[in-house]
Amino acid sequence: MDRYAVIGNPVAHSKSPWIHAEFARATGQAMTYVAIEAPRDGFARTVSAFRASGGRGANVTLPFKGEAFRYCAATSERARLAQAVNTLVLDRDEPWGDNTDGVGLVRDLEQNLAFALRGRSVLLMGAGGAAQGVAKPLGDAGAARIVVVNRDVAKAQALVDHLAGASGAALRACGYAELAGEGFDLVVNATSVGLSGELPVLPKDLFAPGALAYDMVYGRDTAFLAFARAAGARTADGSGMLVEQAAESFFIWRGVRPDTRAVLTALRVG
Ligand code: NAP
Repeated sequence: MDRYAVIGNPVAHSKSPWIHAEFARATGQAMTYVAIEAPRDGFARTVSAFRASGGRGANVTLPFKGEAFRYCAATSERARLAQAVNTLVLDRDEPWGDNTDGVGLVRDLEQNLAFALRGRSVLLMGAGGAAQGVAKPLGDAGAARIVVVNRDVAKAQALVDHLAGASGAALRACGYAELAGEGFDLVVNATSVGLSGELPVLPKDLFAPGALAYDMVYGRDTAFLAFARAAGARTADGSGMLVEQAAESFFIWRGVRPDTRAVLTALRVG
């Protein structure tokens, strides 16, 4: 059995072992996939021990995606642009890293939710690891304009500066107070506020007619989704992104692309 894992802290709640077990069963791959909690100060030690014991690959989740980027001897271009790694390939001479969060979000939007990004205006809330992972892929998928809004505006500006010249979209960074008067086709909550329940003050006219509100947090109704519903927007949680980023990692490791529909249906219903 080839061995894989998701490494995070905390990680016990992770749906990834179940998702990858379903993918392996459906595609006939002989592999195991477990959750490993690394100590906050022990990410590199934990990955190295897993690799030394035969681990062939791993997903990385909060709070280690930046550290995983620095751990890798080499990475994909999308991981370099994101400065964050969520997929480790450990069965090469040196650890190699990729970031599948962006492609996961774009596939969920375009394929599962039938939301075409071409020409759209997008508000990306947050400038942490998740926002860094998806900003460039949203532009690559054709978004015309991406505004990155963050409590710490300097972080949003750093993200925009980092992508300047690499993205086809017009980019702007701002704070929440500067949002009034702009209607967006897509608003993505890439902050961690969904977990705590507090929401930054958002203007009522945030959503253009027919807009989609997407919360990266999955499996629960959040203050952001409730706000969006009340404002008349269509809503989606991050289950589809979770499944699609997992499918891309699975493809990188196994060379087989699993069908995501059954897993996504079970996760959304469950
Ligand atoms: P992170 O690096 O810790 O970044 C957190 C972000 O949230 C920062 O931009 C931070 O703003 C903002 N924030 C935190 N509390 C806030 C508040 N009270 N008001 C306004 N903004 C606040 O976390 P991350 O890795 O980017 O993850 C963000 C979320 O995405 C998490 O909930 C994670 O579970 C989810 N996620 C889901 C998927 C999926 O597959 N569905 C994949 C990746 C991530 P400041 O910079 O101003 O502090």
